[in-house]
Amino acid sequence: MEIQRPHAVCIPYPAQGHIFAMLKLAKLLHHKGFHITYVLTQFNYAHIMKARNFLPLTQSPTFRFETIPDGLPSRENPDTALDIADLCFSTAKNCYAPFMELIDMLNRASDVPPVSCVVSDALMAFTVGASQELGIPVVFFFPISAVASLMHIYSSDIRDKVSKNKDVIFGDYIIDWIPGVKSIGLSDIPTTAWSTDPNDPFIDYLISQVSKSYKASAAIFNTFDELEPEVCKALSSMFNRVYTIGPIPMLLKGLPKSEIDKIECNLWKEDSTCIQWLDTKNPKSVVYVNFGSMAVTNPEKLVELAMGLSKSMKNFLWIIRPELISGDWSTILPPAFTDAFKDRGYIADWCDQEQVLNHPSVGGFLTHCGWNSMVESMSAGVAMVCWSFFADQPLNRYCCCSEWRLGLEIENDVKRENVESVVRELMEGEKGREVKKKALFWKERAEVATSVGGSSFLNLDKLIGEVLLSGGQHFPNGV
Ligand code: UDP
Repeated sequence: MEIQRPHAVCIPYPAQGHIFAMLKLAKLLHHKGFHITYVLTQFNYAHIMKARNFLPLTQSPTFRFETIPDGLPSRENPDTALDIADLCFSTAKNCYAPFMELIDMLNRASDVPPVSCVVSDALMAFTVGASQELGIPVVFFFPISAVASLMHIYSSDIRDKVSKNKDVIFGDYIIDWIPGVKSIGLSDIPTTAWSTDPNDPFIDYLISQVSKSYKASAAIFNTFDELEPEVCKALSSMFNRVYTIGPIPMLLKGLPKSEIDKIECNLWKEDSTCIQWLDTKNPKSVVYVNFGSMAVTNPEKLVELAMGLSKSMKNFLWIIRPELISGDWSTILPPAFTDAFKDRGYIADWCDQEQVLNHPSVGGFLTHCGWNSMVESMSAGVAMVCWSFFADQPLNRYCCCSEWRLGLEIENDVKRENVESVVRELMEGEKGREVKKKALFWKERAEVATSVGGSSFLNLDKLIGEVLLSGGQHFPNGV
C-alpha cells in the first residue's frame, strides 16, 4: 500500500529558517498521503544529529531523510556562521549531480514509491533541470513574504534603474514602479535584492535563479491572500501557477495529530526548561527576544539591548544562540544587567519558538523580523518589536510596522533608552494596545484563510490536484 503513495522529494535551502519552513510543508503533504523524502545537506544533518544526541530523526517508513553534500570545503567548527552568498554559489554549482544520483537511487529502491514530484526551495533552482530530465513536476517554495519574493524577482530591474544609475541618491530613492507595490524606500527593501555595486555577483546569481523559477510548474508562498492582496495578484501572472498556502504552521495545526508531528530539525539543542520558567510568570507579562538562526551582532549592541531590557523592568525570555555573538555573552554583559536577569529574566541557547509564542505568559516578541518568526508571531496573535538586520528583514519590519501595523520599530543603531521605551510601550502603552489589537485581528484573518473553505486551505488541495499529482502534463514552460 505504501508503495502506491505519490512520492514528493522536498529540498530546502540549507539554512535553519528554510529547513523549518519546508519541513512543515513536507508534513502537510505527508498528511495528504504523500511519501516524503526530505533532503538535507550532509553538514546540516551532522549538525542536527549532534544537537539531538544522535537520536534518529524519524521512525516513519513514509517520511525519510536523505543527504547530499553542499559542495563547500568541510568545516572544522559546526558552530561557525556560514556566508550566505558562498552557500548559494556552492549549492547552485555543486548540488545538481548528487541530487540526480539521489533520485536515481530512490527510483531503484524497492521499498519506496517512484519519485513523482519535487518540492524545491526557490533558492535551489537547479532542481528545475532535474525535474525536466525526469519528466515530473517541480514546485518552487518561496519561504519569504510575497512582497519580498517580488522584490527579489525584480532585482534585475532594480539594478538597471538604481545601481547602474549614477544620478540616484540611495537614501532618497523610492521604488514606485513595481506592480503590486505602492511605494517603498530603498532602505526598506531586502538587502539581498539590490546592491550599490552594479556588478555584484550575488545579484547575478539571484537573476539566474529567478529565470529558472519561471520554468517551475508552480510557485508556492507562505502567506495568505488577504495579507498581501495586490502583491499576490501581481505574482499570479508571473509563474505557471501560484498558490498561497500560509500561514503554513496554522494550516498544519488544523490537521489531525500524527506520529510525524514530532519530527524536528533543530540545528541547536532545544532548551525546554524555559517553558517551565514561563509557567511561573503572569499572563502576557513576558517579552520574548529572539534573533533567529543567522543574525549576528557585536558586544556593544548586545550590551545596549541587555541594559534596555533591564531598564524596562519587564520579564524577558532571551534566546542567545551561540553564534549570535563571537565570545561568551556572560562575560560581555555588565553586572547591572546580571542583577535584573536574576530577578526577571531567562536566557537560553535555543527554544521551541512556536511553543513559546503560544505560551499564555508571552505578551510581546522582540524579533529580528525573519519571515518565519513573523508568520509564527502573527499565527499566535503576538505583537512585535521589530529590529531588522539583513536580507528580507528590513522589508518585513516595514510591512509589519507600517502596513499591517502589528509591530513597533526599534532603531537599527540600537540604544538602551530606545529599547526601554519601545518595550514599555509595547507592554503597557497606548500604541502597544493598538498593535496588540491588530495582532489579534491578523491572527483571526489567518485562521479564516487556513480553516475549511479558506483561501490557503483550498489552495493546498488545488496545488496537490492541479500540479503535484498531474505528472507535469499541463505546463509548457515546465516539464
Ligand atoms: N527558531 C526556533 N527556536 C529559536 C529560534 C528560532 O525554533 O530559538 C525557529 C523559528 O521558529 C523559525 C526559524 O527558527 O521557524 C527562524 O526562521 P526566521 O525566518 O524567523 O529567521 P532566520 O533564522 O531565517 O533568520
